Amino acid sequence: MTSGNLAEFTLRGHRVPAIDRTEIDYISGRICKILKATKHSFSPSKIGMFLNSLEENGINIDIVDDEEWIDVARATVDPSTGFIYMPYSLYKNLNRSEPEALRIFLHELGHIFLCHRPLLHFSDKNALQIEDSEWQADTFADCVIDRLKLPRQGRQLEFKNF
Ligand SMILES: [Zn+2]
Repeated sequence: MTSGNLAEFTLRGHRVPAIDRTEIDYISGRICKILKATKHSFSPSKIGMFLNSLEENGINIDIVDDEEWIDVARATVDPSTGFIYMPYSLYKNLNRSEPEALRIFLHELGHIFLCHRPLLHFSDKNALQIEDSEWQADTFADCVIDRLKLPRQGRQLEFKNF
């Protein structure tokens, strides 16, 4: 009854069990420890090694030819198998530690580590932002970027198209 006062929120992704930012930040810290991820791991000279080492933790990157990439998304993930799919062009940028590519990749890792299961169907009625799988994955990526002080996309880039 009291939820009637909450502003309506439109989910960008699937509705998943709520996890707030504090919890996501805590999880991101645990994951960085387990993966031995540091700022250095994401530097252009080390990131290739780091990406390969993820296989030991059951995370695989499947690189798709740019011409064969038909998905509207820039990358996709199957959290149940630990496979992240991305076009070659994105993989190339990731290996150059390009900030936008890093954030996309960390977002997909977020879907895996926050155990998102799109096959669980929760009602979308009165959904909260903290129940949005896309918000959670974005928040995970931002928490890792803040925690490891990874490069962020320059603000001026956002205005490049104007
Ligand atoms: Zn996503």
